[in-house]
Amino acid sequence: MSFPRRVLPFIGEFCFLTLALNSPPFAHAQAQTSILGFTPSAAARQTKIEEQFKAIPSPDEERRQHHIFTAEPHVAGSPRNNELARYIADQWRNEGLEDVVIRRYDVYGTNPKSTLLEMVAPAHYHAVLRELPIPGDPDLKNKSISSAWSGMSASGEVTAPLVYAHSGNPEDYELLRRQGIDVKGKVVLVRYSNPYSYRGFKALTAEREGAAALLIYSDPAEDGFKKGKVVPNGPWGPEYHIQRGAITYDFMVPGDPLTPGWASIPGAKRIPVDQAVSIPKIMALPLSWHDAKPLLANMDGPLAPEDWQGGLPIKYHLGGNRVRVHVKIEMNNSTQPYYVVEGRIRGAQLPDEWIVLGNHRDAWVFGGVDPSSGTASMMELTRALGKLAKSGMRPRRTIVVCSWDGEEVGLTGSTEWGEQFADELRNKAVAYINVDEATSGPDFHGQAVASLAPMLVEATRTLKDPSGKTLYAAWRETSTRDRREAKQTEEVADSNLADTRIGSGSDHTVFLNFVGMPVLGLGFEGPYGVYHSAYDDFFWMNHFGDPSYRYHTLMSQLWGVLALRLANADLLPFDFASYASNIRQFVNELTKNKDMSQLDLKPILDAIDDFEAAGKRLDESASRALSSGAIDPKLATAINHGTMQVERNWLNPDGIPGRPWFKHILYGARFTYAHLELPGLTEAVEKQDWATAKQQAEILRQALINNTKLLNELNSDLNGEKTEAGK
Ligand SMILES: [Zn+2]
Repeated sequence: MSFPRRVLPFIGEFCFLTLALNSPPFAHAQAQTSILGFTPSAAARQTKIEEQFKAIPSPDEERRQHHIFTAEPHVAGSPRNNELARYIADQWRNEGLEDVVIRRYDVYGTNPKSTLLEMVAPAHYHAVLRELPIPGDPDLKNKSISSAWSGMSASGEVTAPLVYAHSGNPEDYELLRRQGIDVKGKVVLVRYSNPYSYRGFKALTAEREGAAALLIYSDPAEDGFKKGKVVPNGPWGPEYHIQRGAITYDFMVPGDPLTPGWASIPGAKRIPVDQAVSIPKIMALPLSWHDAKPLLANMDGPLAPEDWQGGLPIKYHLGGNRVRVHVKIEMNNSTQPYYVVEGRIRGAQLPDEWIVLGNHRDAWVFGGVDPSSGTASMMELTRALGKLAKSGMRPRRTIVVCSWDGEEVGLTGSTEWGEQFADELRNKAVAYINVDEATSGPDFHGQAVASLAPMLVEATRTLKDPSGKTLYAAWRETSTRDRREAKQTEEVADSNLADTRIGSGSDHTVFLNFVGMPVLGLGFEGPYGVYHSAYDDFFWMNHFGDPSYRYHTLMSQLWGVLALRLANADLLPFDFASYASNIRQFVNELTKNKDMSQLDLKPILDAIDDFEAAGKRLDESASRALSSGAIDPKLATAINHGTMQVERNWLNPDGIPGRPWFKHILYGARFTYAHLELPGLTEAVEKQDWATAKQQAEILRQALINNTKLLNELNSDLNGEKTEAGK
């Protein structure tokens, strides 16, 4: 899973303060002579290492690995997915990775036993709930392709009238109410993306409304023939494609529902199922438009509003009387093992400073894009890193690589691993780099916490896009096009290229929101209408997504360059002045068009100014120290340990109100998975709960003060102004 990006990167008015002496403005897309965080001689050495590294990943190997991972369906908990875990571990050992281990977590998993949907009135229709094979794609005849099911659905049986509730968001039920339509005890039919919201949010909303069951279908207006040619003639979803997916309420707390906040290791305490807030109590089933069409075509009641009409050649009605459906779902939701594979290249000089990389292994079916494109890229990345290490080019810091399990169920494997090692990670981890879907097309999308956005942009300048341009130039072009299409007037700049608004929906969540690690997320995107369906497979990738496997290869290169820069930098390339500008932007947006007379944000804005000034001073000192060519290693380590703590300091141990697991005060996600900046403060302001808002504002102000103090101390240390009191 990965949150479909339909939101443009944040367009801010701030400018990056790069390490001024060491890093000229990004004017030349030529070979770099300086790299953020490196002394000149270290940058020259690093450039050589990167050249050797980038030469290793090959499209043929990417394709070979991709074929292995997409050969069979491999849903979380399945024998095939576990076999792939062993395959990865074996590969990593052969490639020279160290401490390769398969970690087992016994978690509350989900599997379907049987699903049934039929229309019983006004006519009989028995839903297919399966995807039909297509000529030319032998994989679609595979007997182990599952039928339609929703992960973590409740079991049960109901025969009831059907209501069409548009996208199944709260405002949709408001409209139904105004039309006199109550969904209590009824079955609700909704579509996936108009606008997009996470299907688990649709399930929770339907559950709160008292519906008996939820059917979620893929309307051709969103990912089918209304978008363009469908499989096998184009990348969009054909008539029978089913978007499977979990409805787990992981926006409340991700991971194993029975161990919220701690790891599901042997002997761990578990809460009773009925106390687990992330387990839905409603039945749910995904449908192809083939199965939804007879239901929609027979519905009566008021004509649905214009923006509720979809891509099928029928008039959509709200229903509620004429169509009755019979839904029967039997699930096997119970404890089962999930496996995380972990390996590392031990750092030659700073083994206790970690760069963590990860991709999930489990797929709804074959996982052509999601996640096996990312898995293939990861395998080429580890092969290249192993080869470098064997030839004596071991990174200074340790690079830890993980293959997650059960991401699709509730971000489960990464969450359990992150919870298990949270204390160690808070001491040792520099950053986490996530790749979920490596490629569904050519358009690069890079996400980063604001402090790492400049180093991400810088790294793209040294990579070559298959178009022949630098990745940086290609990224700018895509970004310019997207902005034009969205009718945004702001120009694309280095300062707004990276998406610094990070919601949930993939494995970065535990590292950012629970552990307090800076995160990066990378992906190439394109027209993609077969998400979570059987058609997302090897055939699709070889005909539409990345037939040459050159974007897979570029992903391995980019992922590795970022990891190697973080692993080898003299001073970690965090840019806190840019972080401050981002936070100021978040605060300004929060107050836009709102009556804020109950809350004085001046103290926060002042604290942001101070944090920005401290960030600038530290940048300047770091630039001076780096350009002098030599930094005392002990001093560098002290500075780096300090800057690594900045992200941790954005955590509030109590979490955001109502969701204690989510501890980051700058980044959060709405129940829909959409990004939510300053989550505690924003939600309080939106509810006009001014007492909570004041409390959250004070927490933010204190964190800013703490981080300003920290940066000022580091700056003094770096300038040799250390005092007894400062130690
Ligand atoms: Zn995914």
